[in-house]
This record gives sequence, C-alpha cells and structure tokens, in this order.
Amino acid sequence: MKAIMYHYVRKFNKDLPNFRFLCVNEFKKQLDFFEKEYGFVSKNEWDNYIKGHGMKNGKGKIILTFDDAINDSYDYIFPELIKRKLWGIFYIPTQPYIYHTLLDIHKIHLLCGAFDGQKLMECLSKLLTDEMMSEIKKKNFQNETYTKQKNDFGVTEFKRVLNYFIPYNYRESMINEIALQLNYVFNINNFYISPSNLVKMKQEGMIIGAHSINHIMMSELTRDEQYVQINDSFEYIEKIKCVTHKTYCHPFGGFHSFNKNTIDLLSKANVAYSFNVESRDIEENDINKSRHSLPRFDCNEFSHGQAT
Ligand SMILES: [Zn+2]
Repeated sequence: MKAIMYHYVRKFNKDLPNFRFLCVNEFKKQLDFFEKEYGFVSKNEWDNYIKGHGMKNGKGKIILTFDDAINDSYDYIFPELIKRKLWGIFYIPTQPYIYHTLLDIHKIHLLCGAFDGQKLMECLSKLLTDEMMSEIKKKNFQNETYTKQKNDFGVTEFKRVLNYFIPYNYRESMINEIALQLNYVFNINNFYISPSNLVKMKQEGMIIGAHSINHIMMSELTRDEQYVQINDSFEYIEKIKCVTHKTYCHPFGGFHSFNKNTIDLLSKANVAYSFNVESRDIEENDINKSRHSLPRFDCNEFSHGQAT
C-alpha cells in the first residue's frame, strides 16, 4: 500500500501570489492516475490491515490522507472523494477550534504566499539575535527538513528558521511582528474546516484523526507536554463526535519530529495507528512493527502532484 499526503488543494488567489498549493485540476488528474496505476484501498481492506489481518487485496493500492484541517479539504477534496466513492483520512490540529487562532505554521505559509522570500528574510534577520539561534537545532534539522519541497529563494530559510530554529516562546511574537512590519493582517475566517462540516465529512465515511493541538515539534517537548498535545487533541475530536477509530499523524513528520515518548504515549492512549512522512510503501509487517510511524509519500512524488 502507498499512503499519500496532501496539504493545500485549491485555486489561485490573487491576494496570495506566491502561495504554494496543488491545483484542484491537478489533484483530480492525480486521482485518475492513481486509479489507473494502482487502485485505491477500500475501507474494509484498511480495517482488516489495521486489525493485523494482512493486506490481502489491498496490496500496492493507494490510501489518501489530508493534513491540517485546511478548508480546501471541505471545499474541493471532500466533494471529489464523494463523487468517486472514495474515502480519506483527515488530520486535525485542534488549537484553531479551541482558541480560534491560526496556527503559527499557517501564518508562516500565508506570509510566504503574500510576499517574496527575500523580503521575508530581510524582516526576519532584523529580529534575530544570537541567543535565538540554537546551533544544536540547526545541526539536527538542517539536512532533514524541506528536502521534498522546491521553494523560491529565501522561503526555505524563512520557514526553517521559524519552524525549527527559533525557540517556541519567541516564535509567535516574531511572526506577528513580521506581519506588522509588512502591514499584513491574518484572517482565520474560512481557513479551517468548520466543526459542523467535520461532522458531515465523518458521517459521509471520512476518517477524522488527531494532529496535536498546535502543530508543534513533539521531539522538542517534555513527555508531559506531549501527553497534553496528544490527549487533548483526541478529546476535542471525541467531543464533536468525529472519532471512527483513534488515529494520529505526527506534526511536520519525519523521524526527527517525534521520539520514543511520543510512540509510547500513542500506544498508551490506545491509538490504532499513526502516520509519519517517509517515502516508501506500507509493508505487511509495518502495522505490527511500527504502527505509530507508518510511512507516507508526499503527493508531489507522483505525477500531477507538483505544487504551483
Ligand atoms: Zn500538519
């Protein structure tokens, strides 16, 4: 089986000229391509696999996953899946629902969409101090991040510094300060799928999973902090009655983004399985050996998956 990961699937918006997204038409073409080349894993086949009953007819087929609760998933992806009688797993960070604020990671995407990389790096450089730059983190993450993305000049650096290098206590205020300097106002309206639409999606056969509270690098947190991120996010999804079975997806993804504590807490919370980002097929034995780091490909590794 191949699990595929998607983020933004949308149409061009002139207010965000540099925004990176997969065009709706390309998404449809990619579904056609998958159908023809591999076929899709049925819900029954997936259920059997996660219960440890093997892959049987699911072998080699595709499973679709969509991260971050972006409203695109409701506007463009959900109707397309319904039309094709497909299903998908949607991973939801819960901060936007509980605190009604945009996640830092999405503020960063919006800034990168509205301005060019050079301008963003100029603003950021003015705010950086030596104390903020942790050299250790730099070494750990430099070669493991954004390896599958082709970004414009400055954008990779901008994202890397804000997502990985800056201590969390500085990050939000720095992002807000940059937006202020550039006269950019963040707007949360219609950015995320509404709770009632999440319910609708669940009722129509989609699976809703947890993706932490605020999309933070779990490997940077203490065990207790991770406990809150995992358990509170499931609690919200349970509260709005969107749980089919408990499934989780590591924020950012990659083996640097979580640790032993994360895996242990997911097991103790009786989570059925969790997705990582790793470019390989899900093998027969992964569900027994590494149930909380199932591999997923980025959609951009296949035909029609390139962002514009
Ligand atoms: Zn995510």
